[in-house]
Amino acid sequence: MEDCLFCKIVKKEIPAQVVYEDRNAMAFLDINPAAEGHVLVIPKNHSKDIFDIPERDLESLIVAVKKIAEIIKKLGYENFNILQNTGKHAGQIVHHIHFHVIPRKEEDGIFIKFPRIQTDNNSLEKTLKKLVSSSSPKEKPEYSFAKKEKPRKNEKDDWEELDW
Ligand code: 5GP
Ligand code: ZN
Repeated sequence: MEDCLFCKIVKKEIPAQVVYEDRNAMAFLDINPAAEGHVLVIPKNHSKDIFDIPERDLESLIVAVKKIAEIIKKLGYENFNILQNTGKHAGQIVHHIHFHVIPRKEEDGIFIKFPRIQTDNNSLEKTLKKLVSSSSPKEKPEYSFAKKEKPRKNEKDDWEELDW
């Protein structure tokens, strides 16, 4: 796409530190890294997000993500956050789909954790019904309504009531 920053990187119209490239995907250093080795992995074809991307491009993309994680792992990293922001409220700034591969180490000062809400089986079942009713028949899980799971408490005990 003409006005897309990442398409310009694919076409080499603007420079980037390219770590990896294959027929369908490309990976380069994030210009404002969260940590040393923070890499962005993109499809070469323009797709704006997870809904837009054809499945075959997505398959190549996720395989490239794994390759990048393996490359960084060889530098001694064992821990990663692999993130994909979809939409502006989720923090997507560049509207050419990309995965962030962020190497992590102990006490690195990066905080990627979300607050958790307290729930119970009734709320979970209600949510499950909403989700399953919006899925197509062949996507419906056979066992989801039979399975009862007890919600777990998180370590910090910072529960809020679930009210969907
Ligand atoms: P998003 O918030 O859309 O998930 O992430 C976009 C990422 O692209 C950000 O982490 C940002 O630092 C990175 N970025 C923005 N512009 C450029 C650029 O021109 N070159 C590179 N290499 N990264 C960029
Ligand atoms: Zn693009």
